[in-house]
Amino acid sequence: MGIFKSLLNFVFPEENICLFCKDYRVEGKFHICSSCQGFIEFVHREISSPIPYVEKAYYSVLYTRLIRENIHAFKFEGKSYLYKTFGNILLETIYEKGLHEKVDLIAFVPMDRMKKAQRGYNQCELMARYLSKKMDKPLLKDNIIKVKVTKEQNRLGLTERRTNLKDSFKAVKVEDFKAKEILLIDDIITTGTTMKEISKVLINNGARKVYGLAITSSMKI
Ligand SMILES: [Zn+2]
Repeated sequence: MGIFKSLLNFVFPEENICLFCKDYRVEGKFHICSSCQGFIEFVHREISSPIPYVEKAYYSVLYTRLIRENIHAFKFEGKSYLYKTFGNILLETIYEKGLHEKVDLIAFVPMDRMKKAQRGYNQCELMARYLSKKMDKPLLKDNIIKVKVTKEQNRLGLTERRTNLKDSFKAVKVEDFKAKEILLIDDIITTGTTMKEISKVLINNGARKVYGLAITSSMKI
């Protein structure tokens, strides 16, 4: 295998390789093997404690070790291609809950420019872009801006998490989403603070409703 081909395979793994464990037994739309699929527990669950400004917030699967490790790889280890697996996992919940019939637009949790430049991509944007194509709904991409550089939520304690993101988002070109119902995509719901802060900005600028959707939740319920 030439060096170019092997580099390409590193960035875009071969079609038939499991994106989670790299086994060659891929089946179906999630691009993972049947044994990894066996460890995914779909729940399509609504977050029970209400998140202010959010109509309803859902997550697709239980927060198991396999999911936790692969979300970590997706966010911090450059495995951007995992959007295919996670995008299809989210799509299951979208159809299960009828969200495709309700929402007009797809939005995602933005990153500040510095962090996106360092990481090279925004994992939530990759999933939202994929869903926007699959659902044939426009993507709201430059309308929510992260104006404050904040600490990674996962490095903070509970109290700090709740205040860290306060007023760190701003909306622009608000006519793009006025009176619209929006599906906001995040990777994981921990305290609900991220969804709350973004939805606040959307609702205060004229959005009709915001639904939240994440892969999983580590919230204690
Ligand atoms: Zn696998």
